Amino acid sequence: MPFEALGLDPKIAKAVREAGYTEPTPIQTKAIPLVLRGSDVIGIAQTGTGKTAAFVLPILQRLSARGSATNRRCMRALVIAPTRELVVQIEENVRKYARHLHLRIATVYGGVGERPQIQALRAGTEIVIATPGRLIDLMDQGHVDFSGLEVAVLDEADRMLDMGFLPAMRRIVKALPKQRQTMMFSATLSKEIETLTNEFLSNAETVQIGRRANPAELVTQFVYETTKEAKLPLLLHLLRDETLDSVLVFSRTKHGADKIARKLASSGINTATLHSNRSQSQRIAALKAFKAGTVRVLVATDIAARGIDVEGISHVVNYDFPPQPEDYVHRIGRTGRAKAVGDAISFVTPDDRGNLRDLERFISRGIPRKVAEGFDASAYKAVAAPLTSWRPSRPQVRNSAPRPPRPSSYGSSRPASPSQSRPSSGNGRTAVNSRPQFSDRGRRRP
Ligand code: ADP
Ligand code: MG
Repeated sequence: MPFEALGLDPKIAKAVREAGYTEPTPIQTKAIPLVLRGSDVIGIAQTGTGKTAAFVLPILQRLSARGSATNRRCMRALVIAPTRELVVQIEENVRKYARHLHLRIATVYGGVGERPQIQALRAGTEIVIATPGRLIDLMDQGHVDFSGLEVAVLDEADRMLDMGFLPAMRRIVKALPKQRQTMMFSATLSKEIETLTNEFLSNAETVQIGRRANPAELVTQFVYETTKEAKLPLLLHLLRDETLDSVLVFSRTKHGADKIARKLASSGINTATLHSNRSQSQRIAALKAFKAGTVRVLVATDIAARGIDVEGISHVVNYDFPPQPEDYVHRIGRTGRAKAVGDAISFVTPDDRGNLRDLERFISRGIPRKVAEGFDASAYKAVAAPLTSWRPSRPQVRNSAPRPPRPSSYGSSRPASPSQSRPSSGNGRTAVNSRPQFSDRGRRRP
């Protein structure tokens, strides 16, 4: 179905085609007509399903349709997103989709000077994309005029709640005109999100795609059982494989991220880090280098990497296993996005085994265990740790005959044979165009 069929202006549809999209994704198909009609919409779909365009395209349509009539240069659309990186990413999307329109776009986020942002707001700009914190700063200083606002979007609402932005969201929404269209997008639907819907939206239409916990289905997931001490050597060992050519590594802490990055860099691997202790310009430079492929490994913390869209990530490594199943789902959503097919690798120490079980229950499937060929984890046991602290329940068999995959090996710690990995030829992203990107599978309701 072409984008025009959703009721979009040919100029917008053209820009979208030029962006390389051939047809709308399921969330776009469902949400765009509703948004065009002016309804309040709550959109729920997993990461990487194209939620940004689902709200940006109809907003552009509204602004361009009535834009020339209004002479006032004022803020007509506001998008709130949890992190600076996301704001920048949404802005890139808006600029791409709006290239045949004449609209002014501004961003508002912390970590950089306020002056240019204030000037942009003063000069008048139709679309503002902002993080809650800096927006409130500028509101308090009297630089923000919401009087002409028509549309507001709360993007990644679940993440904003997780990050403690509820009071900030309340303050911002309270300052908006009562008469407006409001949209909220989220990867997950929780009680809290439903409450927010009632508070911020009116007569909202809900558009939900896919199940509640649905890790990107293009992603091949597996687990390496390891010890804390063996993690770094294991990562280095895995990186000997060149098909891991664009790797996002998740560390629980900023300190840990720096440590991993130092070690990789000293082993000659181009590495960058992404976390909130780095300056805004460092973070932008890191992302840019990673996107360009000059940096092979990006080590990030959850918050910093939230919602980041980098095309062609080949592997996600959960260096530290996430305690929350939702975080796992978000993390592995970084790979297998758009047209890439990726692997999600998790390191699981004895301490993580409970969390792994919880995750497998959450996603209703077992994650295959794998053994790194030619890697001896026992060589890295800490001297102080009792050797008997944990053992796999069955002896590790390396180089055993290929076994069929055991996706139902729920909770079992039987090591899978190395040949169980996704057959890969070439660069390990062979399936790129051979599967429909946005299948009907996601349309099922839970
Ligand atoms: P979400 O917000 O749901 O996590 P994004 O809006 O960031 O997802 O989109 C994920 C990726 O999919 C982006 O790279 C985007 O350019 C791409 N994308 C969006 N819509 C389409 C489409 N209709 N066809 C192909 N790719 C798309
Ligand atoms: Mg998004």
